[in-house]
Amino acid sequence: MKIAVAKLQSLVGQVLVHHGVAPARAPLLATTVVAAERDGSRSHGLQRLAGYVSSLSSGWVDGAAEPIVHEAGPSLLKVDARNGFAQVALAEAMPRLRAMAAGHGSAVLTTANGHHFAALWPDIEPLAAEGYVALTMVNTRARMVVWQGTRKVLGTNPMAFACPRKAQPPVVWDQASSVMSQGDVLLASAAKRPLSEGVGVDATGKATTDPDAVLKDGALLPFGGIKGGSLAFMIEVLATLGGARFGFEDDSGKIPGAVTSNAGQFLLLIDPRRFGGGFLDRIEALIEQLRDAGTGRLPGDLRYERRRIAERDGIEVSPDMHEYLTRKGRDASAA
Ligand code: NDP
Repeated sequence: MKIAVAKLQSLVGQVLVHHGVAPARAPLLATTVVAAERDGSRSHGLQRLAGYVSSLSSGWVDGAAEPIVHEAGPSLLKVDARNGFAQVALAEAMPRLRAMAAGHGSAVLTTANGHHFAALWPDIEPLAAEGYVALTMVNTRARMVVWQGTRKVLGTNPMAFACPRKAQPPVVWDQASSVMSQGDVLLASAAKRPLSEGVGVDATGKATTDPDAVLKDGALLPFGGIKGGSLAFMIEVLATLGGARFGFEDDSGKIPGAVTSNAGQFLLLIDPRRFGGGFLDRIEALIEQLRDAGTGRLPGDLRYERRRIAERDGIEVSPDMHEYLTRKGRDASAA
């Protein structure tokens, strides 16, 4: 069945509040979850809601945490998410980050002690729509083997980049460091669909196409072999500049139900207008060359198209998810 975007946000928000997210913060998290589903980023959409609920119920994450934002330099922000969600920490820091970028031309944020369980593009697409170039990265609990290693040390560390355009929505790409995100492996497991070769290994380090073998004590592999491992390493360094845990320091295994990663985020904001005029025209010239060379869609285009359709027709929700939301909604109203 199809549910209108705003209605779905309200249902998800209700579930989050019922499980301990501060009512003032729930709309932000609900919007992030629903935005991913709306735009077809299903690995980080509604599928994640049970993980939020489980992490909140287990006490692993604090839905009512109030982040602390500290100025570590003229254009450096250090944010302590205080074991809450990274999006809440980012929202709290955003006015100062924008002011720094407006004043100095660029600004950097690092968040520690935060849980980022979503797609990254919602964090930066609005910034590019305002004219900024933005780059963000997040580290996760150790899930990958890299550089011929045999043990998981680095996370599937995602990164996203957003570039403004002239009278067009920004170009935004957003990708994991692994061949496939953990979320997509979960979707494959739920659908009993084998993985492609080269996505992951089992507990013994042997290549496997079985999603359950990867999820159960196996590991994911970086995209692009050694080079993807190098990017994941860089992200591990940048995302933990503010003192966040490395992926291998994750101790969620001690807490039954802890699904999210307590880790770090890095965000770089640059105002290209500071370098003089013509930036947007040059980006259009670059895109025109790519189009002439045969490029079909740009990263983000498919999301924008899906968004347009979902805003018109609603978001398709499976019967199981609808039943879950209705049941959780009933629990919330009864509480
Ligand atoms: P995908 O492989 O699905 O997509 C990667 C990027 O490539 C997207 O920006 C996509 O744009 C673009 N793209 C795909 N096909 C084309 C094409 N034909 N032409 C041009 N561009 C294209 O991403 P991943 O599976 O690696 O990651 C999925 C999500 O998982 C990300 O949102 C990531 O942030 C999230 N994630 C979050 C984690 C966390 O801890 N919070 C951990 C790991 C991943 P488009 O969107 O338009 O398809």
